[in-house]
Amino acid sequence: MKNAIVVFNAGSTSLKFGAYAVDAGEALPLLCVGRIDSMQGDPHFVVNNADGKPMDSHEWGEGHTVDHKAALHFVITWLEANLDNTKVVAAGHRVVLGGERYETPVLINGDVLDYLDSLVVMEPSHQPYNVDGARAFAEAFPGLPQVACFDTSFHRTMPQVAQTYALPKNVRDAGVCHWGFHGISYDYISRQVPKFAPAARRVIVAHLGGGASMCALLDGRSVETTMGFGALSGLPMATRPGDVPPGALLYLLRSKQFDDTSLEKMLYERAGLLGLSGISGDMRVLQNSADARAVAALEYFSYAMMKYIGAYTAVLGGLDALVFTAGIGENSVQVRAALCAKLGWLNVKLDEKANAAGGPCISASDSAVSVWVIPTDEELMIAQHTLALIQH
Ligand code: ADP
Repeated sequence: MKNAIVVFNAGSTSLKFGAYAVDAGEALPLLCVGRIDSMQGDPHFVVNNADGKPMDSHEWGEGHTVDHKAALHFVITWLEANLDNTKVVAAGHRVVLGGERYETPVLINGDVLDYLDSLVVMEPSHQPYNVDGARAFAEAFPGLPQVACFDTSFHRTMPQVAQTYALPKNVRDAGVCHWGFHGISYDYISRQVPKFAPAARRVIVAHLGGGASMCALLDGRSVETTMGFGALSGLPMATRPGDVPPGALLYLLRSKQFDDTSLEKMLYERAGLLGLSGISGDMRVLQNSADARAVAALEYFSYAMMKYIGAYTAVLGGLDALVFTAGIGENSVQVRAALCAKLGWLNVKLDEKANAAGGPCISASDSAVSVWVIPTDEELMIAQHTLALIQH
């Protein structure tokens, strides 16, 4: 009998998972990766093997819904029935917010779940679904060890000055601080950078996906990051705005153009590249559009990144390497070129051929800063943390 760890990333209407073989040690080879989408209507399940080849799919049919508990049950049952002689021995969950209590991954129990639930009010876009998924799993498989890995944990190495907002103490004590997100991805990338650029101490990583952020790494540890309190601030994203002055939001509430619910919905779902372009938040669509609004949205995106690179180069006292990762960072030749074209003042020189080929190194040999494309793997990072915790 072989043992496997399964990793879950539960969203509002989807459940993503990956299964990893434990017995080969720390390498944790991928067995399969899949997802259940549209859980609230027309749910469907797909799963691919480690080479990306389809293994199976299932449709529940229109009008059906699948809650997290049923989805998790379906996945575990499928894994144990379809992976030869394999038993799931532990699960790892992605949870965005670990709060003040969890600066590292933790074994889940009822008390942990209650604390994570108490943070839902701080982060309504991911936290409730992450915690629901973990709770549903604990109920369905009470005997299996489970680990929660947090996106905020990696940023707890930021100096105090970078974790603080200039607010009264009672407000700061209520948890209003610069948490930062995408930490599981940055944790993974920080372990990859030395393999590509061993001498690089001052590194900026641009995690550019549907959500987008940057992180300044000094010797592999986070010292600054663009997402602050909640997943709205910093860089513009597919449908989230990035930095907007709080005064503007107060004005929208005061003038009754929005209430708190409609304001939240606008900020999470209708802003960012979608709001700017009026066309789409999807980078592929924008890149393929000749519409001036799409061009302007892309310019805003690279302008915002350039500003943060300036700030973070100052924070780091210089810059040795710039890393692109996630859906846009790994795939968009155009976005990488647009940003690098704005970094001539840092003597960044792009190798256009290498950029078109996708790297890993995409800078010219005489570039003062080396530039890299490094694929992220948040699921593998969670699997590794899960293994480490269950072995203790
Ligand atoms: P999420 O944050 O939802 O996990 P991903 O990391 O998968 O997102 O990134 C999704 C983004 O990546 C989308 O904007 C998509 O358009 C973009 N993307 C994927 N492939 C390409 C490509 N070949 N060229 C440009 N953008 C791409």
